[in-house]
Amino acid sequence: MLKQIYEEIKKYNTIVIARHIGVDPDALGSQFALKEAINLNFPDKLVYAVGSKSSRYNYFPKLDRYEMTDNQNVLLIVVDTPDKKRVDINRLDTFPNVCKIDHHPLIDNFGGIEYIDTKASSASELVLRFFKENNVEINKNIAEFLYYGIASDTNRFLFNTDYNTFQIVSDLIKEYDIDVEELYSHLYARPFSEVRFQGYISENLTLTENGFAYVIISNDTLLKYGVDASSAGNMVNNFNNIDEVVAWATISEDVKNGLFKFNIRSRGPVVNNIAERYNGGGHALASGARVKTMEEVQLLINELDNICRVYNEKEGD
Ligand code: AMP
Repeated sequence: MLKQIYEEIKKYNTIVIARHIGVDPDALGSQFALKEAINLNFPDKLVYAVGSKSSRYNYFPKLDRYEMTDNQNVLLIVVDTPDKKRVDINRLDTFPNVCKIDHHPLIDNFGGIEYIDTKASSASELVLRFFKENNVEINKNIAEFLYYGIASDTNRFLFNTDYNTFQIVSDLIKEYDIDVEELYSHLYARPFSEVRFQGYISENLTLTENGFAYVIISNDTLLKYGVDASSAGNMVNNFNNIDEVVAWATISEDVKNGLFKFNIRSRGPVVNNIAERYNGGGHALASGARVKTMEEVQLLINELDNICRVYNEKEGD
């Protein structure tokens, strides 16, 4: 299938590469690796990496603009995104051929060739696999994009990591002489306000008797700490491996978009099928959701708490 995607790339002069909203380093890493590699191997093609920017990730290149007008013969490749509603692009349905490379469980079919491996550590790992299978030439810059993606989506090799992940990363580091420490200094740089804010979250997590921990962060709190609605999501992984916590969520008020953002993580119970019913989704143990009212916030908290209870009962058997 990766060979077929390569054949599609060969056919088109214009290629647009998109990824999910709420961008992260794996989405950007896989997107820019693909863009730069197509540029390197097919210098005559026009390649656009599109989507909204985030100043947090300014160690990646600038994103491009691409305005789709009807009947343009372009190939759209979507990376790291399973569902149409989360593709960060205008007029998705007007693209005649949409391929997908993703490591999330399938939600929507985009119409073209779809390469999905939910066992892969990251979309960046799959893009690397795409390069290898098709003998696509890459360079240090591209290897670094891939490293950002793999390292961040595995939370620095804490999860979704096995022998193969270390093997491919080790090969990348060796072959392209990657300065890992320098890349981490970009990936993990954060403002002092976020460190204070992390302290707030630690202090204010509510832990239920079933082992579900959550914190509701109001807009006033975000203003007080000088952070934005996506900040809690950037640190939700830091609350892993707490003895008493089975699953946990940060719930941030997003006044700009009139909603509450859930960042959900789990050490056992599957949470993405619940998140999907609350305008969300994701991986079995790492999901997000968006709800509009406090009533829905409470309903989702109750469901997550309940899934922890069920999980504990099964584990106790
Ligand atoms: P996050 O908590 O933002 O790091 O997201 C964890 C996982 O859930 C990622 O795979 C996201 O792509 C996915 N995800 C987050 N929010 C949503 C949403 N509203 N709808 C679908 N998937 C989401």
